[in-house]
Amino acid sequence: NGFTALGLSGSLLKSIVATGYTTPTPIQARAIPAALAGRDLLLSAQTGSGKTAAFVLPILHQLSELQAKEKAAEKTASGKRGRQQPKVVQALILTPTRELANQVQDSIRKYGSAMKDLYSVPLVGGAAYSGQIRALKKGVQIIVATPGRLLDHINAQRVNLSDLTMLVLDEADRMLDMGFADDINAILEATPAHRQTIMSSATWDGPVGKIAESFTKDPERINI
Ligand code: AMP
Repeated sequence: NGFTALGLSGSLLKSIVATGYTTPTPIQARAIPAALAGRDLLLSAQTGSGKTAAFVLPILHQLSELQAKEKAAEKTASGKRGRQQPKVVQALILTPTRELANQVQDSIRKYGSAMKDLYSVPLVGGAAYSGQIRALKKGVQIIVATPGRLLDHINAQRVNLSDLTMLVLDEADRMLDMGFADDINAILEATPAHRQTIMSSATWDGPVGKIAESFTKDPERINI
């Protein structure tokens, strides 16, 4: 399987095989190793290019590495087995629309199907608050959100992003076109500066270029 060389964890390779993928798409072949190496990325790719997996797989990889570490630590901790680590939000994926957020959530479920204890919630406008609040109370490691609704939850102190390690701004140009600039700025203020950041956009001209400049560090640019 062509994914083996990209450095992804065993449980992910399992679900990739189960999904029926044999070869990484060009954007996946370039973005996944760079993301696993900790680089910030600026992606320009058409829909249909496999862009979603290019950022979802590195997020899941990081999570499964962390879980393996926690498990090893639990085993050596004297007899306190079965104690659940508190779940903290490690990854946030912002999308311009509910539909896109739901698609990303579906990808997380699909590629994460072989992982245990994976909690991801879509926080989108137009959906009831009750289910979202319930999921947040139980704890999640991944949030997929549209900016406005996420900001509501942050302002109500239901979401804490201070331990975030990975941030994705998917279709950032569209988010700005839709008037989400202030919301995005407010959300990014709530995240740690040392996070890894991946942005996707059809263009890097204008406001989206400014955002890329201020929110990423030495990013690798991948245009497919
Ligand atoms: P995206 O560009 O992320 O919206 O993905 C477009 C479609 O390609 C989705 O239906 C994916 O399931 C599919 N896809 C993503 N990566 C691969 C791959 N490596 N091999 C085959 N299909 C893929």
